[in-house]
Amino acid sequence: MGYSAWFQCIKGCNERYPLDEVVYQCDKCGALLEVVHDMEAMKKTGAKEWMETFDDRIHRNIWPYGSGVWGKKEWVCPNIDNENIVSLYEGNTNLFWAERFGKDIGLENLWIKMCGNSHSGSFKDLGMTVLVSMVKQMIANGKNIHAVACASTGDTSAALATYCAAAGIQSIVFLPRGKVSIPQLIQPIANNSLVLSLETDFDGCMEIVQKICKDHNIYLANSMNSLRIEGQKTVSIEIVQQFDWEVPDVIIIPGGNLGNVSALGNGFLMMMELGVINKMPRIVVAQAERANPLYLSYRKGFMEFKPVVAKQTLASAIQIGNPVSYEKAIKILETFHGIVEQATEDELANAAARGDKYGMFNCPHTGVALAVLFKLLKSGEIGSKEKVVVISTAHGLKFTDFKKDYHEGRLEGIQSQYANLPVHLPADIEKIKRVIYERIEKEGGTH
Ligand SMILES: *Cc1c(COP(=O)(O)O)cnc(C)c1O
Ligand SMILES: [Zn+2]
Repeated sequence: MGYSAWFQCIKGCNERYPLDEVVYQCDKCGALLEVVHDMEAMKKTGAKEWMETFDDRIHRNIWPYGSGVWGKKEWVCPNIDNENIVSLYEGNTNLFWAERFGKDIGLENLWIKMCGNSHSGSFKDLGMTVLVSMVKQMIANGKNIHAVACASTGDTSAALATYCAAAGIQSIVFLPRGKVSIPQLIQPIANNSLVLSLETDFDGCMEIVQKICKDHNIYLANSMNSLRIEGQKTVSIEIVQQFDWEVPDVIIIPGGNLGNVSALGNGFLMMMELGVINKMPRIVVAQAERANPLYLSYRKGFMEFKPVVAKQTLASAIQIGNPVSYEKAIKILETFHGIVEQATEDELANAAARGDKYGMFNCPHTGVALAVLFKLLKSGEIGSKEKVVVISTAHGLKFTDFKKDYHEGRLEGIQSQYANLPVHLPADIEKIKRVIYERIEKEGGTH
């Protein structure tokens, strides 16, 4: 073995910190840290060998390699002992060809990566397994950590709570009151988290949790903690693996705090450096117009970045005005010929519903990504022959109120173009038949 990784300043200060040290920012300049791997050690293994190793581990049960994250342990976090790993066998989510939907929007090769088909219903599980495993290792090595805390727009807290519960570690979640869905709120409650519902927004929660975590006995689980990025980067490796180690042309990802886009990019960079791939995809970040600081910065050529006050959006998990990982994200977008595009509330809601008509069950954030795809196809920035992967970030079942209100036409300012309401009828065969025939006639039978 002999693989190793450590924290390092993203600004290039040569400070290094061990991964089991409680540290989130560079001591010298205050910038975020990233996990850096000993690439020379990994290069001793050839690309083909890595691919075979990763292929062999999928759907097997040798602890912990059956997990989509830990199947790539050497690339993710080699420093954790297997016995300290806290895994629910996350990852290895389905990537499917949305053939009929793609054809309808003028794209032959549309694929959806279902990161929400996961234990807590979002991609956040991929990062949380790494972070909580590291905490378990630190505790095992005698570090005095009483709890792990995060601020959340809903999904981070659900993932943190579930992994902490599995590990027997106390979790504390800071949620903006009234701004997360009931299913998202009920997850940490069910998993015995200390749930703090605060009279502020996500950015306000983030400020408070950072102050609380200055007390080093409480470990900070937000994505400024780059251990999570290491787990999330397996999404790009998985996508390439699922295409038999070929790289798609474009990847579209909804972005809020902007950790996930950096993770995605890092996965591709690592595959490139280790010779597993020899081309890069374009990366598109999709933002809600009501929380769009990265889009505004993109329009100015990334010359400046100004936080905004995020307005309420249906895409609640990306209602973030002051994203902690913007520098990392911009670096990635500059490397990957990135595009940032935005979607209005009307666009995201209708895009989600349109996809649902083809058998998907989209969360509003996936709706943002789909709406952005429609726009870029229309403008020609994405060509009809390109192979496009949309990252679906959460399970639609976490957002049933959004869907119900959409179909009932109760979302303010939104024209529900694809509304489909239940038909209330007496138990009368003739009346029922009439409704069925009407529907079949309207839709033209099988379609
Ligand atoms: C967290 C989250 C995002 C945004 O990811 P960032 O890393 O914050 O950019 C998008 N969609 C869902 C469902 C999420 O939970
Ligand atoms: Zn520094």
